[in-house]
Amino acid sequence: MSEDRLPAPIRTTCPYCGVGCGVLATVDEDGRVEVKGDPAHPSNYGRLCSKGAALGETVYLAERLLYPEIAGEQVSWEQAFSAVAGGFRDIIDKHGPDAVAFYVSGQLLTEDYYVANKLMKGYIGSANIDTNSRLCMSSAVAAHKRAFGEDCVPCSYDDLERAQCVVLVGSNTAWCHPVLYQRIEQARRKHPDFRLITIDPRHTPTSDTADLHLALKPGTDAFLFNGLLVWLAAHGESDDYFIAHHTRGMREALEAARRSAPDVTSVARQCGLEARDVEAFYRLFSRHERVVTVFSQGVNQSSSGVDKINSIINCHLFTGRIGRRGMGPFSFTGQPNAMGGREVGGLANQLAAHLELENAAHRELVQGFWQSPLIASQAGLKAVDCIEAIEQGRVRAIWIMATNPVVSMPDAERVRRALQQCELVVVSDCVRETDSVQLAHIRLPATTWGERDGTVTNSERRISRQRAFLPAPGLARHDWQIICGVARAMGYGDAFAYDRPGQIFDEYARLCALPKPVARQLDLTGLAGLTHDEYDALPPVQWPLRQRPEFLAGDAFGAVSSAARSADIEPASSGLYRDGGFGHDDGRARFIAVAPALPAAAPNAEFPLLLNTGRIRDQWHTMTRTGMSPRLSAHRIEPFVDIHPQDAKRYRVEDGHLAEVRSPAGQGIFVRVRISQRQQPGSIFVPMHWNGQFSARARVDTLVPAVCDPISGQPEFKHAIAAISPCEANWYGFIISRRRPALKYARYWARSRGRGFWRYEVAGQASPDDWSAHARQLLQVSEETHWIEFHDRSDGHYRAAQIVGERLESVIFIDSQVLLPPRDWLVSLFQKPAISAAERNSLLSGMPPAGVDDAGRIVCACFNVGEKTIRAAICNKGADTVEAVGALCQAGTNCGSCKPEIGSLLKSCVQVR
Ligand code: SF4
Repeated sequence: MSEDRLPAPIRTTCPYCGVGCGVLATVDEDGRVEVKGDPAHPSNYGRLCSKGAALGETVYLAERLLYPEIAGEQVSWEQAFSAVAGGFRDIIDKHGPDAVAFYVSGQLLTEDYYVANKLMKGYIGSANIDTNSRLCMSSAVAAHKRAFGEDCVPCSYDDLERAQCVVLVGSNTAWCHPVLYQRIEQARRKHPDFRLITIDPRHTPTSDTADLHLALKPGTDAFLFNGLLVWLAAHGESDDYFIAHHTRGMREALEAARRSAPDVTSVARQCGLEARDVEAFYRLFSRHERVVTVFSQGVNQSSSGVDKINSIINCHLFTGRIGRRGMGPFSFTGQPNAMGGREVGGLANQLAAHLELENAAHRELVQGFWQSPLIASQAGLKAVDCIEAIEQGRVRAIWIMATNPVVSMPDAERVRRALQQCELVVVSDCVRETDSVQLAHIRLPATTWGERDGTVTNSERRISRQRAFLPAPGLARHDWQIICGVARAMGYGDAFAYDRPGQIFDEYARLCALPKPVARQLDLTGLAGLTHDEYDALPPVQWPLRQRPEFLAGDAFGAVSSAARSADIEPASSGLYRDGGFGHDDGRARFIAVAPALPAAAPNAEFPLLLNTGRIRDQWHTMTRTGMSPRLSAHRIEPFVDIHPQDAKRYRVEDGHLAEVRSPAGQGIFVRVRISQRQQPGSIFVPMHWNGQFSARARVDTLVPAVCDPISGQPEFKHAIAAISPCEANWYGFIISRRRPALKYARYWARSRGRGFWRYEVAGQASPDDWSAHARQLLQVSEETHWIEFHDRSDGHYRAAQIVGERLESVIFIDSQVLLPPRDWLVSLFQKPAISAAERNSLLSGMPPAGVDDAGRIVCACFNVGEKTIRAAICNKGADTVEAVGALCQAGTNCGSCKPEIGSLLKSCVQVR
């Protein structure tokens, strides 16, 4: 359809990471959804990463949960509400309010979060509501509260561009917050003196481009930053005025730092670094006035994450590098609305509006505002504690909203067992088949991105609207509607009588606007009392918003489209804490004395490796959404383990072969081996994403023990002890098929979605008696199809292809050896409406006919550009920059997420030349 015939795009927000990019979504007359970055959104200014750019591929309904179900039977909403309310009520009556719990999600909108929190804390009377954000950034919350007296991120994204030096700690920003990485890269291009430092045990696409990379020993970050504090003091780098007027506790913090990290030599030894690199980092930090220190999951997901973060914040307080443009400690949140959840009390130890659950005056204020019959008076169960309480029968009913704890929580098999024995499990989700939905007694269909309407807050405190542009399918309802339906059925209808999300937002804004016993930066006074139209058209705004913003004046909302309004908005100044004004009673920030602790688990003879888990570029969380996208699935098609060559040799695992990774916490997982110098010897990396729908046994969090930071309750996902061994099989193979095969003999399988086909990697021990008969059954071969096969029983080779009409329908390749032909050319044939005679003749060789090249492994997901094509651009056509590669083959010219990988290919090709 031509541009001028497309309907006007709807402004909304990407539902993945905490960057919170603005998206323009358009639905064409065939129902196809096109997305573009919103050029007017101050978080991304038109950019999207590969995940955001592929959102249009994830909105179809095939795998949706569309109707409420009780015990697998479809029911009406009234039946579902009454069953949930009745089940919860019975348990509360018998065992008290603390016998029930909600486990919610950073995917929920602020309005959903607000009503869930209100129902649990103000009406049920328990604080047992916790969120998967506990797994993601609760250590940042606790560290902010300790230092600033409030969970407040003092930076904005434009500080990254105004900085002279950005330090990324425990953050593979290029893959996990790609649009912010692009903003940093753009600033580097503009300002040649800009310095980027990465601190990460792994070599990542982010560290590849850094000016200085410190590959420190896992878990030693607090030694490094304590050392920095000592170094800054020794070199007279303190901001004495700021320390004297706006802080407390510097002396104690410095003494503690001196005890653990007295000098550069000691820091280098403890962190496993060269002293000259440590010194170089300290000098770069001190030389640049405008330093932003970013920290993310590599720091947060630690058994001492809160201390690590406070050791970073200490250095910023000491040098007064906070509250001014281009500087400050900056927590990048993982989830799209982790921040919004924190604002409305989505954690078990908080109240809405940044008020404290354990403070009687705060409780009184919130209860009075809600006019609720009661209010929880003590902190509820944090996520991991809640699972233990289910095991022990202290919690007997749980309602899981928009998250998949059977994959994402530590000790994930234990989570499954706990849910299996729980008296009542309710799950509201948009997807029908997840590891957690499968265990629910009651399933409630929720709307999802594109259908729902509300607000989210990103990592820079910016509230943006998610807007609906698709109807709710089946009987799916918005999460806030579902929660209010249950509240009504429990008898609390008056307090949950909302018709629109804007009413909920208004209630939340008015709560924030109340005079408080202590000053709070979270102030939405300027947004209290929005009309329906104003809320509907609300442009992205950053808190605090103490005054009614100018763009809300007069008839601005009547006449001007939201598009034009958004374009007018300047990025808000951060400026928080420039002149103190911290949230502690005396308005001063606190230095925290940090005594660094190493993780308790140390490798031993049985489990000699350290297991680090994390994200990859093109998947999100447990793949329930991104796994739907062929484009995103092409980047990494299987679960894998990265291992250093020395360790691979020692533990006899080979590149491209299968391995079993085990830990004391559970049954082993099966993953593909990738030998990589990027890994430190002694440590391995496995991505967190694969769930039970996409692989036989690759839920890596089954291997991660539930060890948590004692202050925040955030689990340590980066430091489990593990062992690795070859995963032997009698046969290996792959299947590419337009229909999903019903696998029977595969011990290992991993599937990924292609455009109109499924791709399986398989391996097994037991074999069918007759591969030919089995393959025909597996691939549903009928009389009408053309079936070609080759079977060499002596060598265990079996290959077959099914052609329907002119189109390739399926292929299966089985071998006794793991090495099989590359799949890229065969995969490309599934894009063709007809295959040629030459292609047909080459099918069972798995290799293209002479003179035809395949593109290789997909690097650029946006334009489907493979590694071989990029290498050809570099080696044969002379491209010597990422931009030149893009000009030749388009790779990297859309979202830019693959640019670091193209850069790595450039480096490796240049080395070969
Ligand atoms: Fe979405 Fe990517 Fe932006 Fe994150 S960086 S919000 S995943 S488009």
